[in-house]
Amino acid sequence: MAARDRFTSGIECPNCGQKGVLHMSEDDHPYMRNPHREVDEIEGEFTTFVSKGVDVAVTCIKCNANFAY
Ligand SMILES: [Zn+2]
Repeated sequence: MAARDRFTSGIECPNCGQKGVLHMSEDDHPYMRNPHREVDEIEGEFTTFVSKGVDVAVTCIKCNANFAY
C-alpha cells in the first residue's frame, strides 16, 4: 500500500513571466528512489508532462517556452 502525497507548487515562466500553480501528487513509498509523480491539475496557461516519473517538464502556452519544474 502506498499513500499519495499531494502538494502544490507555484511556477513562473522564465520567458514571459506568466504565473501558475501545479497541483501534483506522488507515491509516498520509502523504498523507491523515484516516486511516481503526476500532475493532477494546472492553474494557468501551461501544459506539462512527467518524464520518467521524476522531472516535470512545463510548456508555457502563451510563449512556447519550455522549462523544468
Ligand atoms: Zn511564457
